[in-house]
Amino acid sequence: MATTDQQHGDAAAAAGREAMAHYDACGLCPRQCGVNRNAGERGVCGETSDCRVAAITAHFGEEPPISGRNGSGTIFFSGCSSGCFFCQNYQISQEHLGRTLSHDELYNEVQALIARGVHNLNFVTPEHWWPHISVLCRRLRAEGVFLPFVWNSSGYFLTEWLDQQCALIDIFLPDYKFADAALAHACMGDSRYPDLALAGICRLAERVGFLRPWDDSGDICASRGLMVRHLVLPGQVENSLRVLDNLAREIGPQLPISLMSQFRPVPECGRRGFLDRMVAIDEYRQVCQHLDDLGFTKVFIQPEFGDDNFLPDFSADRPFKGNPPPTGPAAP
Ligand code: SF4
Repeated sequence: MATTDQQHGDAAAAAGREAMAHYDACGLCPRQCGVNRNAGERGVCGETSDCRVAAITAHFGEEPPISGRNGSGTIFFSGCSSGCFFCQNYQISQEHLGRTLSHDELYNEVQALIARGVHNLNFVTPEHWWPHISVLCRRLRAEGVFLPFVWNSSGYFLTEWLDQQCALIDIFLPDYKFADAALAHACMGDSRYPDLALAGICRLAERVGFLRPWDDSGDICASRGLMVRHLVLPGQVENSLRVLDNLAREIGPQLPISLMSQFRPVPECGRRGFLDRMVAIDEYRQVCQHLDDLGFTKVFIQPEFGDDNFLPDFSADRPFKGNPPPTGPAAP
């Protein structure tokens, strides 16, 4: 028995070392920087291999089958490989707010979250932390934690990494931000985004299917599958229509979609004089109408234009006013 435990421990340690070696010449996202994050170098995402997290919380601001009644166990990671200047989480994606956590510290904080009765573990902006996340997920599964793992992604991904991630991750919530290559270039400096995001989303549809079980009330949480998110941008209706056209053509209207209206201009929008206002109600309605015309039926929309209680301030003790403070394990 002791030998078996020892063997398991050795195998886990070897798997951990193998995972962390991916930081040696980092190619975890399409930027393909090749920097040695284990040696303290930083690529476009701005992070070394020291795992940094801005918030770990039971989050109620996701779609109903993700938040459910007890919240989604959400881990907001620091840094981002896509780097959109209008990022609603710019304090963590671009200003790099966050604290460093060892593997064990991350594991312990996640265990405390699980004890609160959350419905899933939700990794936000995860691509550049895949080695850490894979170690965490394997450890949790080995210890009998079978909550769904959620990949809450910018959609700026590579299919080869998604193939690995499908082996451990249950639910994928990628953005599909841009169908317009020029807009992608203007916002995040990579005109390849539309093709990369669409290729990844198609791969995920094949590999994990659509989000299920489908219950838009939040009474039954999703356990597996894909739902695509799209944030409508001010003055960019044409981009949104093309996003929906591409998804309808390549995947079909059975795909679950979350169409978000919650865009708020961040300080960089004002500095650039671009995307420096909220989305107009008529713009959002136009996109909703197109969603309907294309025959999508599993949809979440935000006619109330988002809840300001879920506008984050990661410099505050409670980044989301809409989330209850942690008061210990949730009632069963
Ligand atoms: S994850 Fe970061 S360092 Fe690695 S390739 Fe992407 S941007 Fe570069």
